[in-house]
Amino acid sequence: MSIWNKKEIKRDIQRLNKDIEVDILIIGAGITGMTTAYFLKDKNICVVDANRIGHGVTLNTTAKINYFQERVYTKIKNIRDEKSAKKYLKSQISAIKDIKEIIEKENINCDFKMVDSYVFSNKESETQPLKKEIEFLKENNIQVKQKELPNKITQYLSYCVSDTYIFNPIKYLEGIYKILKEKNINIFEETKILKIKKKDDYYICYSNKYKIKTKKVILACHYPYFILPFLLPLRSHIEKSYIVISRVKKDLNFTCISSSSPTYSCRFYNDGDNIYQISLAESHNTSIKQNDEYHFKRVKEIFNLKESDIVITYSNVDIMTPDHMPYIGRLKDNIYIACGYNTWGMTNGVLAARILSDMILNKENEYVEVFNPNRINIANIVDLPNIIFSQTKSFFGPKLVKNKSWYNGNITFINKEGKSLAVYKDEKGNNHIIHNKCPHFGCSLIFNEEEKTWDCPCHSSRFDIDGRCIKGPSNYDISYKE
Ligand SMILES: Cc1cc2nc3c(=O)[nH]c(=O)nc-3n(C[C@H](O)[C@H](O)[C@H](O)COP(=O)(O)OP(=O)(O)OC[C@H]3O[C@@H](n4cnc5c(N)ncnc54)[C@H](O)[C@@H]3O)c2cc1C
Repeated sequence: MSIWNKKEIKRDIQRLNKDIEVDILIIGAGITGMTTAYFLKDKNICVVDANRIGHGVTLNTTAKINYFQERVYTKIKNIRDEKSAKKYLKSQISAIKDIKEIIEKENINCDFKMVDSYVFSNKESETQPLKKEIEFLKENNIQVKQKELPNKITQYLSYCVSDTYIFNPIKYLEGIYKILKEKNINIFEETKILKIKKKDDYYICYSNKYKIKTKKVILACHYPYFILPFLLPLRSHIEKSYIVISRVKKDLNFTCISSSSPTYSCRFYNDGDNIYQISLAESHNTSIKQNDEYHFKRVKEIFNLKESDIVITYSNVDIMTPDHMPYIGRLKDNIYIACGYNTWGMTNGVLAARILSDMILNKENEYVEVFNPNRINIANIVDLPNIIFSQTKSFFGPKLVKNKSWYNGNITFINKEGKSLAVYKDEKGNNHIIHNKCPHFGCSLIFNEEEKTWDCPCHSSRFDIDGRCIKGPSNYDISYKE
């Protein structure tokens, strides 16, 4: 369920139905994969997605196109250096320019509009750090002014910029889809790539039935499903946020986000029939115990939302990197990667598309070095013990305590013939049994009572009550047949 495809776009699905050969294979049709395909549309490319176009993390984004991102620049300055912070700022502004140009040039009707964007401190102790961020922005010629938020969220200090945007990301991707189709580019949906094998100077990418031979592979699949050689689990953590969408009377035409964790943010969306407020809060590292019911309740309290106005609630996850900058570039040989957007994937997805397409087209790009996915810096090393600790906890913790106290009595854990299983009893009393082990890394799963899914606390794979994989990095189901 998402606000972006509430008015469903109907069209046929094309699935991979034979072995094929291309020069460049893009795995993943979210904002990253589709925009990369747009920049490479004159090449011999194809796009595959395990699901439908845009039905990954992009489906449940809040879709603010913004360079005023909490206190990211001072964080990068402290963790890396001032030069990297300046580069990151320039890259975000350049990505916004790219999105605007694509939408205007191709006449994509995606409710794209300019809005004021605010960053505010919701704690008194946060006002000084926020002032530091503003100093950095002003030194870099950003027009930012102190201004009160138009709605009644607790705020001690708030600042506003005016040259930021919002849009409907699914309508944007449908626009890109039409352009790619005019160019006769194949986009195979419901086609999952399970394995990539290098042979001489090309790769064979296997789906469950057919294979694609390609010279270059772009992994735009949010969380690459293999562990080696990138070791992403040791270079990132997963953050989960809770979103509540409610009907409102007035489009206040702004976006806002708090300057510190846990993040609060909101924006508005007018779909032509109704106006919605999209409110987000309660973000946390998935390795800590989650109580979805409580977190959704908190979002409603923070934004003062009336139960009768609420139309959709859901959670969503993104990959967070220790130095707050994404991993974009060549991973190894002819495999390229783009991930770790720290919840700013509208700009970073388009930035990745520009960097990767420039690399493939042998064009200069000033950002290749700063976002190099193989970079090792002090932040990665300092964060490593925390990451290892939280993942070890997720791996062993639930196995030891069996989680029983976390649930309302509708979940039981059993051991059968040496297999660790979990049983969910639904409202009608039917049992749904799954293997309680994520195929990606072996972590035990947590049942998400609100959305009725099994979620992996380690790297955010999700499975439905019968064990079908609905989100990677796991590529496999965990269904159990008696
Ligand atoms: C709560 C929340 C709010 C956010 N709000 C904002 C915001 O306001 N502004 C902003 O800039 N960013 C925001 N973000 C971040 C942004 O939504 C994401 O970073 C971005 O959508 C990621 O896009 P993507 O294309 O990389 O991944 P996805 O959209 O997840 O696309 C990856 C695709 O790869 C496919 N795939 C995966 N594995 C395989 C496989 N094995 N074979 C084939 N296909 C595969 C998936 O099906 C999926 O469609 C938010 C994130 C969250 C969690």
